[in-house]
Amino acid sequence: MENQTYDYIVVGAGSAGSVLANRLTASGKHRVLLLEAGRPSHPWSPIPIGFARLLDNPAANWCYESEPEKNTGNRKIPVPRGKLLGGSSAINGMVFVRGQAQDFDTWAQLGNRGWSYRDVLPIFRDMESYDGGDDEYRGRGGPLKITDTTEAGPLYDLIIKAASQVGIPRNPDYNGAVQEGIAMTQATINKGRRMSTAYCYLDPAKSRPNLEIRTNALTERLLLDGKRCVGVRFAIDGQVQEARAGREVIVSTGSINSPQLLELSGIGQPELLRGHGIEVRHELPGVGENLRDHYAARLKYEIGKPGLTYNDRARGLGLVWQALQFAVARKGLLNMPASPVRAYVKTREGLEAPDGNIAILPFFATPDRRIDKRSGITVSANPLRADSTGSIHIRSAKATEPPSIRFNFLSAQTDRDVTLGVIRIARRIMEAPAMDGVVSGEFAPGKAVQSDDELLAWALQTGETTYHPIGTCKMGSDPRAVVDERLRVHGLAGLRVADASIMPTATSGNTNAPSIMIGEKAARMVLEDAA
Ligand SMILES: Cc1cc2nc3c(=O)[nH]c(=O)nc-3n(C[C@H](O)[C@H](O)[C@H](O)COP(=O)(O)OP(=O)(O)OC[C@H]3O[C@@H](n4cnc5c(N)ncnc54)[C@H](O)[C@@H]3O)c2cc1C
Repeated sequence: MENQTYDYIVVGAGSAGSVLANRLTASGKHRVLLLEAGRPSHPWSPIPIGFARLLDNPAANWCYESEPEKNTGNRKIPVPRGKLLGGSSAINGMVFVRGQAQDFDTWAQLGNRGWSYRDVLPIFRDMESYDGGDDEYRGRGGPLKITDTTEAGPLYDLIIKAASQVGIPRNPDYNGAVQEGIAMTQATINKGRRMSTAYCYLDPAKSRPNLEIRTNALTERLLLDGKRCVGVRFAIDGQVQEARAGREVIVSTGSINSPQLLELSGIGQPELLRGHGIEVRHELPGVGENLRDHYAARLKYEIGKPGLTYNDRARGLGLVWQALQFAVARKGLLNMPASPVRAYVKTREGLEAPDGNIAILPFFATPDRRIDKRSGITVSANPLRADSTGSIHIRSAKATEPPSIRFNFLSAQTDRDVTLGVIRIARRIMEAPAMDGVVSGEFAPGKAVQSDDELLAWALQTGETTYHPIGTCKMGSDPRAVVDERLRVHGLAGLRVADASIMPTATSGNTNAPSIMIGEKAARMVLEDAA
């Protein structure tokens, strides 16, 4: 067993952890160890279309599944998570959405000082480099390059026109002053390359002498000395090692693995820990609770007009042409985010901001996630802020055993109401005059499914996550909070959690941007506290 000493140990090199590793080593004053359970990289990761090859690929993905739950048809719902440098930012759909001002103001209203929109907006600006939008909202010189999806396609123009026909205006920048409206997606893609945090934050930092990055290093537990975290125990190729942190350990293993790592270390609900033979080191009942995700109904439409969908364009000679276009000019379908068009909508009168999200996937996939022979598109419809909560807890004391994930999707009436509302808006768009002669049928749920009860039953039986689990080590000061507003674990010294798990409530959109913001803000707080 080797023993090594650093100032800071960051566990998990994902969206947040990679940012921390970069920022904490920038001054040269601190020695940092970054531990990542996954591999350094994967050949499909830098290529935008590669996300489709990594969605269920255990070489770069933890490939978790939920527990079968009665309300969602006893299905095991896939829960992909990145397992490589960059974490989920290295396998995700590359859609860049910050969320609404109200999301962060809600966090602040819950008692978390320093997290209001006014507080986090400068961080969002500093972290990005984007050519469009208004300078009050958008950044030009940050490490993360964001681009607009410019691939012109008649399908996208038609859908945007159809949306305007049902009262949803085009929004030139949904990450700016207002989120509402329909837009082409802003993406973490630049010049044909995925902008993962491994590329944007770790690559520029990895040659610093004060940063040590160890991959294939599964952290098995945190080392506690009384109520202080002093280091970690990890395994590389089955060889167990320990590393010591003079100042702090920062857990950034994501919403699935952060509660798991705390529980394996004896931090959590006493009865649950004892049930797995783990000595209780620190009672913290909120660990693993408050799991929230965006649960989406996936409507599927047959497209009768030829040449519009990936089913038509990415097959046979079409695929060869797309590959050539990408090889020569970094253009075409291989250079696209998962869903090139998105809309933020209000499902009822009187709302201040949108509560529903519609994302267009310009293809129709088979149940085993391959491109179908038929031509179609998928319209993903979900509430923007989930009120239904579930949990993630260990199944055993073994770090290699996947935790048990229970989503409890659509258990909250608000989520059911918004789901129905957003499905109906999605249908209205697809039935608007602009789609005449384009849409030739509804594969799913199908025209026969009309009443609220029928639609809800279909959504419960067939919906999927949009891969945005959050909240399992939530920030706050109530009895179920795990970390305080500076992301320090309640009641323990030398330990923070900084990743998507600290979000007390969901942000209104995809979760990579806010996770990177959390990494940036955590680094600032760690450095402030060290000064
Ligand atoms: C398939 C998919 C598609 C998505 N699409 C989008 C999208 O288009 N846009 C968007 O904004 N968001 C998207 N998301 C969500 C977004 O990517 C995540 O919310 C975000 O990356 C979470 O960041 P994180 O830092 O919390 O965790 P992660 O980025 O998941 O990082 C956690 C890291 O910790 C490592 N780790 C875990 N356990 C251990 C351990 N015990 N020891 C050492 N290392 C460990 C993991 O391997 C991983 O590298 C998607 C996610 C997935 C999986």
